[in-house]
Amino acid sequence: MDAHLDLAYNARALGRDLTLPLEALRALDPHPDTPLVTLESLKEAGVAVAFATLFADPREGGREDWEEEVYAQLALYEAWEARGLVRILREGRDLKDHLSRYPEDRTLGLVLLLEGAHPLAFPEDLRPLRARGLRLLSLSWATQNPYAGGNAEEGPLTERGRALLKEMEALGVALDLSHLAEEAAWEALKAYRGPVCATHANCRALNPSSRHLSDELLKALAARGGVLGLVPYNAFLEPGWKRGQKRLPLDAFLRHKAHAEGLMGPTGVGLGTDWDGGFGLEAIPQGLDRHRDLRALGDEGFLGGNWLRWLLRWF
Ligand SMILES: [Zn+2]
Repeated sequence: MDAHLDLAYNARALGRDLTLPLEALRALDPHPDTPLVTLESLKEAGVAVAFATLFADPREGGREDWEEEVYAQLALYEAWEARGLVRILREGRDLKDHLSRYPEDRTLGLVLLLEGAHPLAFPEDLRPLRARGLRLLSLSWATQNPYAGGNAEEGPLTERGRALLKEMEALGVALDLSHLAEEAAWEALKAYRGPVCATHANCRALNPSSRHLSDELLKALAARGGVLGLVPYNAFLEPGWKRGQKRLPLDAFLRHKAHAEGLMGPTGVGLGTDWDGGFGLEAIPQGLDRHRDLRALGDEGFLGGNWLRWLLRWF
């Protein structure tokens, strides 16, 4: 399982055809960042379920643009589903059905995640998205929005944010703490009684950045039965790593894994690669080229069992 892939953003914002084989996409991709993911590379690796995002960059355009982009990305996932390329897991029965069919047809299952609530004008705007399959939401993305502060713009959980958490509880939408300002994350953990996780974040103790989770927050997440998805991305592993520098050894990733497992237990940690648009092959640790290489990083629980058990508890 991969708990964070911005597949539709990657396809739309970077114009990549993710239905191509990875080598074919790499051969014709014009961007300096070498592509890391296609639907085929996920199939080859045996990724059975991915949390697939709906994401509009809040630094570009306004709320109506973001809403339009989110619905366009949703339509892309639905089009892939109509072609038999993926299965969108909307309800518990879809997940159970998927798990029984996956070993034979190896069709990727997608659980939809809205990354940042900024496209929603009001908390009630979550309902039509839930009706089309949305099951996870992170309140903010980097910047502050009407619901909560973000990792790059500190701020609390607002009244509208609290109303959105109530809506999520009622609709069965889980809370992703990634990108949330620390203050807002503590408030959200108190206010929200549904399932919590962090789909893509690393250990702040090893990389002191507000983008990552403090030891206290990791422990609180584990106490709620939540899972952390670790990101094999060099800039998230070591402070100061910059684009263009030498790729880090795999050890840089394994240190975060050991630290998180020390705080959350081995059942609390998995993968959330975030491998797509934002960075490429040049920015991930040595020894990793595509999803199949992740298999060397951990046991069955780390590679998917932990996320799957979390999902099966509430989905
Ligand atoms: Zn994302």
